[in-house]
Amino acid sequence: ETIHIQTESKKYNVFVGEGVRNEIGTFLTNHFQDLTRILIITDETVAKLHLEKLLLSLKPWEPIIYTGPSGEKTKTFEVYYDSLSTALENRLDRKSVILSFGGGAVGDLSGFVASSYMRGIHFIQVPTTILAHDSAVGGKVAINHPLGKNMIGAFYQPEAVFYDLEFITTLPDQEIRSGFAEVIKHALIFDPTFYEWLRNNVDDLNLLTLDQLSNSLIKGIKIKNEFVSQDERETGIRAYLNLGHTLGHAIESEMGYGNFTHGEAVMIGMIFALKLSKELLDLSFHLEEFIEWVEQLGYKTKIPDHLSFEKLLAKMKQDKKSVGDSIRFVLLEELGMPKLQKISETKLLEELKSF
Ligand code: NAD
Ligand code: ZN
Repeated sequence: ETIHIQTESKKYNVFVGEGVRNEIGTFLTNHFQDLTRILIITDETVAKLHLEKLLLSLKPWEPIIYTGPSGEKTKTFEVYYDSLSTALENRLDRKSVILSFGGGAVGDLSGFVASSYMRGIHFIQVPTTILAHDSAVGGKVAINHPLGKNMIGAFYQPEAVFYDLEFITTLPDQEIRSGFAEVIKHALIFDPTFYEWLRNNVDDLNLLTLDQLSNSLIKGIKIKNEFVSQDERETGIRAYLNLGHTLGHAIESEMGYGNFTHGEAVMIGMIFALKLSKELLDLSFHLEEFIEWVEQLGYKTKIPDHLSFEKLLAKMKQDKKSVGDSIRFVLLEELGMPKLQKISETKLLEELKSF
């Protein structure tokens, strides 16, 4: 299936399916005249598992390969610098293409390299995680600063996304959960029917059929596109994509990245936001049933015991969403109807304590 992404700055396609990597070659030939070199940026885990398969479909181009560390460790200044050095040493020019091959971390890094190398060269995303249905679409690219995650970055859209479902089959359980939390998020903020479908069809994330997986990813990508196409630079409704993320980011950062996946933290944040939505906006929603369902899927649903509420609150205040002494939360008025709501620190602390 092909999904058309339309943002203000660019139009591009997301190709989803088994074996779509085999179409990259034709795309390169048709899309880029005088393509000089290809630099593949990947990480150790993905390189070991899947690079050979990808290279088979890129043979005539003899790509240059840069392999960074796996996971969040790849979004550092050092790795960014090394990737640029590789690009320079191999004389990539403005007619070269960067191909990002990995999860959201590799995608964010490669996109930022592409956006800044020689003031910007083309890049293509070949995502390998479920989470990347979210991160590979929309054009936010970034690396981390020791003082804050994603603080150094750009808005930079890819030329195309090739989402080959065969790569996803090797994902460990917690990474499946991490990515699927964003699928559930997309359903909650936009599509009650899709949410019902998930509730009725997904009861074990390890037993998802290929059809279920591809349906979930395609729906998720289309919903992300709805928000991004109307608000590429997040001045308005794109913020709704942050459901669960205010508390989620705080938990992630207090736990230390790598100990708790992004999506697992966001799931706890979503449960908190749903609870607030019921109390403050009369959202009609069976929260107990939701919690039972996601527990069955293997998610944690409570804030880890040893985390301090005060510290979490302080972290939430640092988030871009804070205004004065309140914090702006994404809540739901109804399923599929998100709303930004300011909540005071005192109220939040109270709510955290009773969560
Ligand atoms: P990731 O890239 O760190 O991948 C998670 C782990 O899975 C890594 O250890 C990776 O090596 C491994 N992995 C990747 N593909 C695999 C495969 N096919 N089989 C086995 N293992 C595989 O993380 P992620 O969860 O994909 O993405 C998280 C990152 O995405 C964060 O840095 C987050 O900030 C970013 N993000 C960006 C956006 C955006 O809009 N740009 C949106 C959401 C998240
Ligand atoms: Zn997220």
